[in-house]
Amino acid sequence: MIKSILQEYILNSNNIAIIIEKNIYRDGEIEKMFDFEKRPHMSEYRNSSEIRDYFHKYTKKNLKKNFPFKPNNIYKKILKLDTSSSVRGIINMNIDGILKLNGAKNVIDLEGNLNWLYCSQCGMETSMESFANNQDDVLCSNCKDNSLKINLPFNGQEPSQWDLKDCWVLLNSCDLLILLVENFISPITFSYIELVKNRLDRIIITGNLIDFTMGNTPEFFSDSHYICSNNDFLDILLELTTKRNN
Ligand SMILES: [Zn+2]
Repeated sequence: MIKSILQEYILNSNNIAIIIEKNIYRDGEIEKMFDFEKRPHMSEYRNSSEIRDYFHKYTKKNLKKNFPFKPNNIYKKILKLDTSSSVRGIINMNIDGILKLNGAKNVIDLEGNLNWLYCSQCGMETSMESFANNQDDVLCSNCKDNSLKINLPFNGQEPSQWDLKDCWVLLNSCDLLILLVENFISPITFSYIELVKNRLDRIIITGNLIDFTMGNTPEFFSDSHYICSNNDFLDILLELTTKRNN
């Protein structure tokens, strides 16, 4: 995609949807720490105190030195876009929860947000920072009858139905879809591209290096790909959306 088309798309859009692919923070360090192989199966987690203890120890051990998460340059720019009247919503595939922790209002953490834990029985919530740094007890301090669960889908669990519905509404009402891609595109993102492509032909994919070794390079790709680092692309996007709104 050439820059003049990119500029035209952005300047003529007032309902932009953005998808942030995985691994945008610290080269995916947090994603790897909690990839699906490391998460328990939901039924085992419910039934086995050993599995619960093991997973909570693992979580505390790995997150203790990581708090508080600080936004990198990319997140700082996304936080500015979150307040832009041209941006309707942001779907985030990263689990670090940094955007919401720093006040983002229009972000859907579709893959979960590890910054908090909750009790499925009484609904009490607690922050991961307190849990990891104070080594809080895993038993809910309110109902004392249930273990807290980190807000990530475990094996055998689906993403939240509310979040899926919000994504669907966003993608059916946007007039431009922008994908920030670090190195690969998730299957669910492909389905979202299809959803938007059937309705309008305005998709921008950024990123220097995208790995399609798991399948063929999709047909739409060359028309939509603007080769650029996400960091540089966000500067262009911020400049153009600010210009548009002034
Ligand atoms: Zn409780």
